[in-house]
Amino acid sequence: MKRVLITGAAGFLGSHLCDKFLANGFKVVGMDNFLTGSEDNISHLFGNPNFEFYHHDVTKFVHVSGELDYILHFASPASPIDYLEMPIQTLKVGSLAPYNLLGLARVKKARFIIASTSEVYGDPSVHPQPEEYWGNVNPIGPRGVYDEAKRFQEAITMGYHNYHGIDTGIVRIFNTYGPRMRLNDGRALPAFMSQALRGEDITVFGDGSQTRSFCYVDDLVDGIYRLTLSDYHYPVNIGNPQEITIKQFADEIVEITNSGSKVTYQELPKDDPKQRRPDITKAKEILDWEPKIDRSEGLKRTLEYFQQKVK
Ligand code: NAD
Ligand code: UDP
Repeated sequence: MKRVLITGAAGFLGSHLCDKFLANGFKVVGMDNFLTGSEDNISHLFGNPNFEFYHHDVTKFVHVSGELDYILHFASPASPIDYLEMPIQTLKVGSLAPYNLLGLARVKKARFIIASTSEVYGDPSVHPQPEEYWGNVNPIGPRGVYDEAKRFQEAITMGYHNYHGIDTGIVRIFNTYGPRMRLNDGRALPAFMSQALRGEDITVFGDGSQTRSFCYVDDLVDGIYRLTLSDYHYPVNIGNPQEITIKQFADEIVEITNSGSKVTYQELPKDDPKQRRPDITKAKEILDWEPKIDRSEGLKRTLEYFQQKVK
């Protein structure tokens, strides 16, 4: 059996990745310090003999005994609210942690995959965004701690690949949603769905004309799984190219929840990207991947989760 280390295992994406690799016959070593994650996301795995869990801060030296075939680095605060509240942790987990984990990958001769992000494109002036675009990032703005950590993470990964010959992969993840998102992480979907289910006002930032392209988590995890098993070294966008304005997204959530909530408008956060849509040509060509779950189905599945959680 192949063995994979997943950092950020107790988080939204990390926990779904644990499920995916276990379902495909891997042994999974999960690692997390519960900074933004929750034991609830992985408690169903604790009795599984193919799952081990280490409570560990991956910015500190990482030791794992035994063989490892793959290392997936998914630990990091990920929502704008989280990385604004935890700027230093965000910078460290994007720099010291990949440094530790690339060293581990070198010793174990493992393939190393990092979770990068569409934020490396910043507030993009090229639309949709192909992997060749270098981005438009403000390094000293509020998002700089996250965006630049992710850009450094890509650079150190390519550095280790080029200098030490480590087998590496880089996934640029676009906005993803689904069950196990934290209710109060401030991202658009958890905010709107919790507000709609509670009958509270929906807080659209700015005039809601900024766009995003939302990918359902099962599709995303399938793309990452394919990239892990491939031998591709350059960045690959994984996301759903169905673009929508944030106002339309809020309206869809009000409708699907049958809520009486009304949409209100608040100040747009600084450097909030105006438009975002992945060019997924590469993922189609290299991984034979494209998303299968459209937003109406994805929102329905996500709503079932939020209905259980929102009190
Ligand atoms: P999340 O907050 O749900 O999960 C992150 C996990 O990392 C949490 O469980 C947290 O406790 C853990 N963590 C943070 N710092 C740690 C440390 N020092 N040591 C050990 N564990 C630590 O976020 P997510 O949405 O699951 O994001 C996972 C990864 O995917 C992140 O790297 C994020 O930047 C990236 N990403 C996510 C999205 C998205 O739409 N969800 C988009 C782009 C990129
Ligand atoms: N957003 C919003 N209201 C909220 C939370 C977010 O209008 O309560 C907007 C936010 O300004 C951004 C979009 O929704 O334009 C997506 O935000 P999210 O935090 O989910 O992701 P990101 O900005 O990182 O793409």
